[in-house]
Amino acid sequence: MLDQTEQIGQERTTNDGPIVPRATDFAQWYQDIIAAAELVDQAPVRGCYILRPNGYFIWESIQRDLDARFKRHGVQNAYFPLLIPMSFIMKEAEHVEGFAPELAVVTHGGGEALEEPLVVRPTSETVIWSTFRKWIRSHRDLPLLLNQWCNVMRWEKRPRAFLRTAEFLWQEGHTAHATAEEARRYTLENHVIYYDFLEECLGLGPVAGEKPPHERFPGAVATFTLEPMMQDGRALQTGTSHDLGDTFARAFDVSYQGEDGQSHPVYATSWGMSTRTIGGVLMVHGDDRGAVFPPAVAPVQVAIVPVPGRDDVSTRAVEAAVSDLRRDLSGAGIRVTVDDRPGLRPGAKYFHWERRGAPLRLEVGPRDVAAGQAMAARRDTGEKAPIPMSGAVAAVQALLDAVQLNLRARAHQMREARTFTVDDRAGITESVLKGYAFTRWCEDRECAADMQAQSRGTIRCFPFEKHGDEFRPIPEDHGPCGWCGNPATRRVLVGRSY
Ligand SMILES: [Zn+2]
Repeated sequence: MLDQTEQIGQERTTNDGPIVPRATDFAQWYQDIIAAAELVDQAPVRGCYILRPNGYFIWESIQRDLDARFKRHGVQNAYFPLLIPMSFIMKEAEHVEGFAPELAVVTHGGGEALEEPLVVRPTSETVIWSTFRKWIRSHRDLPLLLNQWCNVMRWEKRPRAFLRTAEFLWQEGHTAHATAEEARRYTLENHVIYYDFLEECLGLGPVAGEKPPHERFPGAVATFTLEPMMQDGRALQTGTSHDLGDTFARAFDVSYQGEDGQSHPVYATSWGMSTRTIGGVLMVHGDDRGAVFPPAVAPVQVAIVPVPGRDDVSTRAVEAAVSDLRRDLSGAGIRVTVDDRPGLRPGAKYFHWERRGAPLRLEVGPRDVAAGQAMAARRDTGEKAPIPMSGAVAAVQALLDAVQLNLRARAHQMREARTFTVDDRAGITESVLKGYAFTRWCEDRECAADMQAQSRGTIRCFPFEKHGDEFRPIPEDHGPCGWCGNPATRRVLVGRSY
């Protein structure tokens, strides 16, 4: 949902500029830490961004982790084409209505006008279900569980790095099932995978829940969402899983022959997670000194800064110790770099790696060498403590684990401290300036529209509780709607969003 009064900050092209404090201008701070960490550059086409090696490394790490989780859940990867015939998009009424304003359309190819315009995929349900028609004949062909890693394009009027970009990278899963119950179960199982990934890998502390009907994916019968809270109190929708019912099977005439010899409808799910998650990592974990990356995705996990001695002998001893340390850590699979750039003071190097979000810095000077230790500085807390050179691998691994867990715990604490149980308009209006309002809602769309117009808060979701590997709706709570006073049976989370 676009917020017209939103500040988006100025994009910086240099990486050594000042970082505006979060409290002064959160939007500018976001742009500043992206520049400091060298994650993206501007592209010649507005709304598109160049992912620099640091930004792309984080995406590769996300890909590796998520892909393994999908495969354990029975999913296979495939690839469908970038260009989709316009007539495919037109087949499903809600789908075309939802995506039409954002479509990029190819009208010419090979120097001639095309007979039928082609759409640059905004998502791939249509091309995939037109293909499933050929692949699904019998109950033996189901379930069909596919995923693709690709780029998509949705024309963006107010672009912002990672959060809203015309072209973005994502994965889109598409599955086909024999029954509606199985499709719903699979959608929720996938949503648990997303939740665990955001918790364990990115430490975002999201709320999982179901979107209200007016916020569903175009064509879906249910949409499930993950809503981590950013440090400015706003929600970032980060990964959605859709139960598509038999909408796309009907639109593309897909059915299967059951064991009973009869023809049956096919039920679909789709689910996507994108480079937007990187924006979430920045806005949940970053601080006024720069980016803070969870060790699981940090391009550099450990930056070693050698501190030269007063003479050649002690400097050479430092170099030898640093060389051994790098070899040991690298051999253990830890992403380590030695900052031996000449002519820079150690303090300038500390500053450099702080801005880039390296979770751990190791300082090694002559006195450390003599004591058989290195000084370890945590990026998340700023704490410094010596670790022994012998056994450095275990000590560093333990510290990286501690940073990973602390970032996650901090995200949970922030969200919990800024989620307010409220029962009236004033409470909702005040709460969404600081974080989330947890309030009863009458489930009327007009009420939600009025709430948004007056408070800028939107219904983020009907939240779930997680029990083991399962999401369950929170217990019903009957009483007046927090906004309009009409009868309500459930509580929702309301927040401003990106
Ligand atoms: Zn209401």
